[in-house]
Amino acid sequence: MSTLEIRDLHVSVETPEGAKQILRGVDLSVSSGQTHAIMGPNGSGKSTLAYSIAGHPKYEVTSGEVLLDGEDVLAMTVDERARAGLFLAMQYPVEVAGVTVSNFLRTAKTAIDGKAPALRQWVGDVRTAMENLRMDPVFAERNVNEGFSGGEKKRHEILQMELLSPKFAVLDETDSGLDVDALRIVSEGVNRVKSTTDVGVLLITHYTRILNYITPDFVHVFVDGRVAEQGGPELAERLEAEGYDRYLVGTN
Ligand code: ADP
Ligand code: MG
Ligand code: MG
Repeated sequence: MSTLEIRDLHVSVETPEGAKQILRGVDLSVSSGQTHAIMGPNGSGKSTLAYSIAGHPKYEVTSGEVLLDGEDVLAMTVDERARAGLFLAMQYPVEVAGVTVSNFLRTAKTAIDGKAPALRQWVGDVRTAMENLRMDPVFAERNVNEGFSGGEKKRHEILQMELLSPKFAVLDETDSGLDVDALRIVSEGVNRVKSTTDVGVLLITHYTRILNYITPDFVHVFVDGRVAEQGGPELAERLEAEGYDRYLVGTN
């Protein structure tokens, strides 16, 4: 059993007007096998949390800790975080010029495992994972993120998650820009990894609709860089009905 623990995390971002405080003391603990939904209004700091865990250089942790089984994640390089078992879907959001999906996946797998996967097994695993996500085999020979549609980017994220078998996956707005069919396929992918491994999932989303497909064990409502409320799946249902208005009274 593993635990990803976020303790009193404060993060600021450099803007042309100077440093801006965005996270103001986030506490959150995710154990293996659990799914935690992070919900909240736009601009509340959800993506900042994801980028901070990923080690994005623009986000400066001014205090607090992120621990993976007691190890200091914030002291790790981005590669070390991946090797430690963290999967951060936004880690490779940019086009990787001239690198095919197939090569990219094998390189990532090799880096994380510390050795190249056995070729025959690997080719079969990739084929199966792509079939599961209803991806055309031709996709494997395209360059990473080059001309990918929103749906293709999301499927590529989940494809990586399926093949890299992380301890913890941070999925930011996995549902944005997906039509209902694509949403179902992507959600099935997440659920497949959840049912076949002990992955812990941090599912970040503004909307409740993906939670109709992926049931969270815990829901945390983010407001103004902090967790304003937490509960079980019923909290997501209340947000669906009521929106975020009641959290925003008095914050502006
Ligand atoms: P969410 O994902 O909940 O919509 P974000 O974490 O993206 O929220 O943003 C939180 C706040 O931080 C917003 O006010 C946003 O404008 C600001 N912010 C985030 N990233 C940056 C950045 N790189 N530069 C300047 N401001 C940023
Ligand atoms: Mg966001
Ligand atoms: Mg499980």
